Order: sequence, then C-alpha cells, then structure tokens
Amino acid sequence: MGEINRRNFLTAAGAALSVSPGAGQPAAAPWHARIRRVGQVNMTERDPVELDVTAWADYWASLKADAVLVSVTGILAFYPSAVPFHRHGAFLNGRDFFGECCAAAKKRGIRVIARMSPDLQWEEALGPHPEWFQRDARGAFVPHGEDRRLYRTCMFSTYYTGHIAAIMREVNARYDIDGIFTNAWPPLGRFPECYCDVCRAQPPAGSPAYWDGFNERVLFLWRFFDGIAKEKRPDNLYFANLGGGIRATPNLKLLGEICEWFNCDNQGRGGEDAPIWGCAKQGRVCYAAMKGRTSTNVTAAWSTGQVRWRNVAKSPAEAEVWMDQTLASGMVPWYHFIGAQGGLGEDRRWHEPGRRYFNWIARNDRHLFNRRSIANLGIVMGQRTNLFYDPPGGGSVAQFMDGLYYALLEGRFLFDFVHEDDLGAENLKKYDALALPNIALLSDEQCRQLRAYAESGGSLLSTFETGLYTERNEPRPDFGLADVFGVHRASAVQGPNGNSFYAWIERQHEILAGFSDTCWLPGAEYRAPLKPVSSPVLTVVPPYPSYPPELSYLRRRTDEPAVVVLEQGRSRRIHFAGDVERSMWRSGHTDLSRLLQNAVRWILRDSSPVSIEGEGLIETFAWETEAGFALHALNYTNPNLHRGWLRRHYPIGPQKVRMTLPGGGKPARVELLKAGREVKFSIKGRIIEFTIPRIEDYEIAAISI
Ligand SMILES: [Zn+2]
Repeated sequence: MGEINRRNFLTAAGAALSVSPGAGQPAAAPWHARIRRVGQVNMTERDPVELDVTAWADYWASLKADAVLVSVTGILAFYPSAVPFHRHGAFLNGRDFFGECCAAAKKRGIRVIARMSPDLQWEEALGPHPEWFQRDARGAFVPHGEDRRLYRTCMFSTYYTGHIAAIMREVNARYDIDGIFTNAWPPLGRFPECYCDVCRAQPPAGSPAYWDGFNERVLFLWRFFDGIAKEKRPDNLYFANLGGGIRATPNLKLLGEICEWFNCDNQGRGGEDAPIWGCAKQGRVCYAAMKGRTSTNVTAAWSTGQVRWRNVAKSPAEAEVWMDQTLASGMVPWYHFIGAQGGLGEDRRWHEPGRRYFNWIARNDRHLFNRRSIANLGIVMGQRTNLFYDPPGGGSVAQFMDGLYYALLEGRFLFDFVHEDDLGAENLKKYDALALPNIALLSDEQCRQLRAYAESGGSLLSTFETGLYTERNEPRPDFGLADVFGVHRASAVQGPNGNSFYAWIERQHEILAGFSDTCWLPGAEYRAPLKPVSSPVLTVVPPYPSYPPELSYLRRRTDEPAVVVLEQGRSRRIHFAGDVERSMWRSGHTDLSRLLQNAVRWILRDSSPVSIEGEGLIETFAWETEAGFALHALNYTNPNLHRGWLRRHYPIGPQKVRMTLPGGGKPARVELLKAGREVKFSIKGRIIEFTIPRIEDYEIAAISI
C-alpha cells in the first residue's frame, strides 16, 4: 500500500526519481540528485598565485563534498582562454589554474561545476561591441558601481548567445567538467533596466507585459546553455543562481519545468531586521518550483548583509542555522567563502565549522533524501503580486508573507508554498486548506482553479486585496473570488487616522478562541471595505485620532464586516477585509497572530499530520524520506531572532511529537540525528508518539521504516 502511494506520488509530482511507465521501478537518478554537499571558494583574481590547490582540494575532500565550483568566469579567465575579450586575470601568467583545480577535485572523486559570470564586461569591449551592453535612459553605457572599468551587459544581446556561449564551449572542449553554472544571471530580485536598441522595443521593465518577454528570454537562454553543457555529456547540465525568494524575477513555475538544478543564492540574512527564517522561506519557494528535484542553497561563511566584509568569517552560529534551514526545507547545503589569499584564506575560522557540519550530514545521508513534504496546508505565493503590486501605505510587499509566516510558526503549523500558476487540482489535492496572504493579482483562470478547489471541499483563507487585480495588475470592480468568499467590495482601500481600525466582536466563533474580557480587537492598518453580510463575526470600528488622547475614543460602530466566514459542505472559507498579516508584522501584535492562527486552525478543522507541543518558537518540516520519515525542527528561540547575527544557540526543553504516518510500513526506530541517539516511541494505528528531550539549534527525528 505504501509503495503504491509512493509510486503514485512520484508519477504525479515528478519527484527526484523518475519512474519508467509500467516498470514500477525507479530509473537511475541523475547524478546531481544524489549530491548532498557542495563547496565553493569563490576565486579572486589573485588566487592563481595565492590559492594552494592541494590544500583547497584536500579541504573539500575532508568535508566529503560531492561537488565544487571552480571559476571559469567571463569577467576574468582563470585559464588561458582563446576567446576574444575574455580577459586573463592579472596574476594568471599563462597558468591553467582552472585546469589544475579541476584535476585536483576530480582526483578526489569530486564533481566540478564551471562557474561563470556573464553580467559584466570590461571597457575595452565597449568600442568593438557596443551591442553587448546595457544602456541607461540617455543611451549611455552603465558602469558597475564599485569598479567603473566594468560595464553591465544586456541579457537580450549577443553577449549571451555569442560570447558567453563561446566560453562555455571552450571550457567544455578542454576540461572534464560536470556542469556549467552562471552567477548573476538570471537577475535575482529585480529586473534589469536597459534602454539598448533591443530593450527599447519591449514594454517598460517592471511591467507585467515586460515579464512575458523576459521569461521567454530566460527560458530560451537556459535551454540554450543547457544544450551547450550537454554537448559534453548528456548527463551534464547548466544551472544558475536563482533566489530572491518569492520576488525572484523569472516565473519559477515555468523555470521549474525545464530546470534540472535550482540553486538559491540566498547566502545569509539581509537587512537590519530580517527574520531568522529567510533560508527556510527560500526553501519553501524552491520546493514549490522543483517539488523535490535537485535544489541547493548557498550559505555564506563570509560576512553577508548591508555592511560587508567579503573576506572575513561571520558568526559560526549564524552560518550553522542557515545550513540547518537549508536541510530542513529540503535543499542541499553549499558552503561558500570568497578568495584563498595566503593558501586557503587570511581568515580561516570558517574551515572547521564547515568541516564539522558537512561530516555530520555525511553520517546521516540516508535520512536526508526526501520523497515529499507531508504538509496539509498550502500557502499561495504570488510572484506577480510580489513583482508588480504597490501595497497601500508603501513598504515592502514581503511584509504580508512575513506576517503570516510568523503567525504560522507561532501556531506550529506544517505548510508548503504553492505557486500561483500551479493551482491545478492535481497539485492541490494533498492540501486540506490554502491561504492567500493578500495575493492581490490573480488571473481569471487562477480564480477559476481556486473556485473549483473550494467546490471540491478545499478550504480557503484570504486577506485584504486578494484577487482585486488581474494578472496584468489591472483593478477589478469586485474581488475575483467574491462568490467564493461571499464578499463584495464596498469602496476604495481605507487607511488609518492616527489609530488603525478596530474589530468589534459581534458574536462568538472558533476564530475568537482565547479572547475574553474585551469587546473588540485590533483590526488592521488598512482595509478593502466590504458590503454588509448577515450575522458578521467582527465588524469595523473606523479609525479615529490617536492624539490628543482627549479625542481617542469610540465614535460609532458600523455593520461593515472586518471578517467574513462561510461554510459550504467540507469547505470552510474566511476572508479578512484588513491587511491583518502585514499589520501583525508591522505591529507585532499578539492578538493578530492569535486571530490568524485561529483562522488557519478553523479552516483546517484542527487537523495536522504532525503536532509538536513544547516551549519555544520553532519551524517544522515533515518529509517522507527514502528511509521512512523525517521530522525537522528548527529552534528560533533566540534574542537574535529578528536582528542578526546569532551569537549562540539557546536550547529548548522537551517537545512532544504526535505524527500521523501516511502510507504503510511499520516504524522500526526513531533517531535524533543531532543528538546522535535513539528515543523510545509508541505507536497506535498510524499515530506515532515520542518526545524530543532538547533542541539546541536543530533536530531531525528520523523514523526508519
Ligand atoms: Zn538591453
């Protein structure tokens, strides 16, 4: 029975192992699907005279790295390239540095990925090849901000199809490489703004209309480069740095269909108040696109962030929690440092933490090959909303997801991300409920799919302006899902007036569990007003001044709903008029977190495949693995949760786990992979129970079947 379930899943979701039709046996996985550790010393111009090739290769071998990145580049050649305008590094002196590194890695059984950067080219090419470069609105070339001898290239130009392709072919012909990788293309979080002849003929950068042509070009180049990689060997591949979370520039659903290896360039916490879970969130984005096929995430051992030191190590606890999140969210860690001056770096403090971590992974590989996530809650990620929507009141559109994310962690929910273009019945059937955190842009087709999901018994939660815009960011007169949620738009978005609006409790409901001794709750900062409904749960008390306090009092109540709840058969639906999740993020208000948690629990009918009871803020992932099941728990209980970096870990006490095992097979043992020991468990029917006595930064409870 379990085997049948597994096979059905693999066929449906196109997971890591492909299944030959009729044979019932997994075909051989591509080599990159089996790698578990990737290493990279990102090579600098000086490295040909600084890096000790033997020490470098021995280091990665001592980490049991399956693959390493070696720079070919495109900006500076690390081998005696004959391609015109592929400038040799100042310290190369004719040496075949790439070739020596490649041979040293291969000798140790490590795969080699040739790393390239197609984004910048030197000023000497401006005259002979003006068509390669980006132009600004005045038609001038666009210099790089840090070294003005370098200029930005245009991805729509022949620089990519001609020059970069020529370097790829040269490297393919000369060396025993396993893949080709580009850094800095496709662009990560924002579109290039270019006014060259090719780009001027396109819709303005950053518009939904531009996105079509942009995606077409990305997919074309990806296939084109992959074709070049495969000229060497059919199991070689091309892949690139992706990332940017939900704000990634290429359409990740489309890219996921052709991409064999998804590497997230999400190297560390960015921004002053960035939450600790940035890498796990990236992993969820990646899983939505790849569904478990080869996915890696780069962890910088160097000092990432707004204030940078590229050649000095960051706090090991911070790098460690990033790798924890990489593994927990189903990706493979890729450990990264810049430059090897003085042999293997002037700062060598990153060596030992990486070695310790990778060797721990290697001892536990068998539990780290995931087949599928067993979450029953899907959170819709709106790439278009993240790229094109301007939230009322300004600020980052990411705050909607961050607020919901925080509430989901506080409620200890198990969830996946679901791409907005992947709302077909086949992909949604595993989810009991879906949440749409202000997915403002939805196409008619996406609305139809969500309607069908609800009609077939699926539950839905949405907030604020969800579905008020088409996929082209054109406003709709009413919500795209008005009929599904039983809501209608009353007027334009309203903002605060000193105070934000309040939500008056009209009647009891499960979403209000835990609220007593109050007539009202915080509403939200902004709301998309709704027409009255019968028997509302919460109604809007409009904003009034917060200062002076003399004027800060309730004037009037209204019949305008702050939330609308609806039940139709199995399907439960709830729509919040306000930007509750963003207000939760911006205010940190515990009532809003509780309200969101209650609402999610209500649409899920309180059912989850896993419950974990205990103290602390944790993030959880549960996977069906090749060995059985694995429950990953990340401990974020730390004074540096919202402001980096971690100084140390703060262990939490007993966590009581209750898990409903999907499919057949009898658990043989439960091991805690971080603690390095087995724990006792009890089993009744399909429900397994055990306790994790202590979690330092991370624990994996591996259930062997
Ligand atoms: Zn251009």
